[in-house]
Amino acid sequence: MKERIHKDVVIIGAGMAGLTAALYCGRMNLDTLVLENGLIGGQIANAVAIENYPGFESVNGGDLIATVQKQAETFGAVIDEFDEIEHVTLKTSPKIIETQEKIYEADAVIIASGMNRRKLPLPEEKKFAGRGVHYCELCDGHAYDGKVIAVAGGGNAAVDAANFLTKYATKLYLIHRSEFRADEVSQKRLRANDKVTIMLQTDIKALRGDKKLKEVEVFDKTTGETKTLAIDGIFVNIGVEPNTKLFKDELTLTASGRIPAGEDCRTEIAGVFAAGDVREKEIRQLTTAAADGTIAALLAEKYLAKLKAAI
Ligand SMILES: Cc1cc2nc3c(=O)[nH]c(=O)nc-3n(C[C@H](O)[C@H](O)[C@H](O)COP(=O)(O)OP(=O)(O)OC[C@H]3O[C@@H](n4cnc5c(N)ncnc54)[C@H](O)[C@@H]3O)c2cc1C
Repeated sequence: MKERIHKDVVIIGAGMAGLTAALYCGRMNLDTLVLENGLIGGQIANAVAIENYPGFESVNGGDLIATVQKQAETFGAVIDEFDEIEHVTLKTSPKIIETQEKIYEADAVIIASGMNRRKLPLPEEKKFAGRGVHYCELCDGHAYDGKVIAVAGGGNAAVDAANFLTKYATKLYLIHRSEFRADEVSQKRLRANDKVTIMLQTDIKALRGDKKLKEVEVFDKTTGETKTLAIDGIFVNIGVEPNTKLFKDELTLTASGRIPAGEDCRTEIAGVFAAGDVREKEIRQLTTAAADGTIAALLAEKYLAKLKAAI
């Protein structure tokens, strides 16, 4: 029989949103548990230089997240990265989170499970991650001011990224394996920019360089031609996978698979909050993840106070 343990708050995910929520919950003396099934820190754990997190001119992702983790633990939050969640029941009171080893009964749950970005199916992509291969134009675009940039992808996110990156690029290649899926207005804007070369029906076959990416080999499926393009960086924008599988029977998800919740992070279930990249919203950054974590924690505390007053 699994041990049953009561918690004021269970936070699912130890990325920037979850750890910020844990820091706030801990400081409010809430009995707080963070469950993490991967790497503490989430997407930012391996980022080399973050230049847009206020308070730091430039900071390594691992160092930044280790500080937030320490702050959360100092205020009493417990982080468990070894016990995987098997099942959740969120509509009951308390909410039930069953892991491989335990059953947690939580009065409030903050879902901060983030998302994963799809990778190119090339083994060398990993070698150049952060060294010419990037996934977030808002985060890393500035480093390519005056450089040659490629964008991989043909959906709205890729075309929007390409349009944004033209502010930095001297030349920009949009490379996509089939036809555009992006809306007409965005496509039109991109086509009208004379810095841009659009390569549809084109596969990316190889990434090359020494320590840093220098060129990309592409195969034009229409002409059968192989070309090598000299580039400084490529932004891969071929889709994201929100980590919401666990919640699909409990919460309605949006078309993109995220959790619908407003700026107050409240979901359709009282006492369940969604924070960070897992929440349906337009801007996904560290600052917005931290803001969501803050809001979710403070409103979870209010929810718990009302719950206690009603008993
Ligand atoms: C390479 C890269 C560079 C970036 N650079 C910048 C930058 O410079 N500036 C910036 O502002 N933003 C940057 N971003 C974006 C930023 O990292 C994200 O917006 C932010 O980290 C989102 O935080 P999050 O906590 O919402 O989600 P995530 O970071 O995705 O964290 C979610 C956590 O939940 C865990 N999890 C998932 N499912 C479960 C489950 N079932 N049970 C338990 N745990 C689970 C995951 O393992 C993960 O640790 C970058 C992103 C990437 C990929």
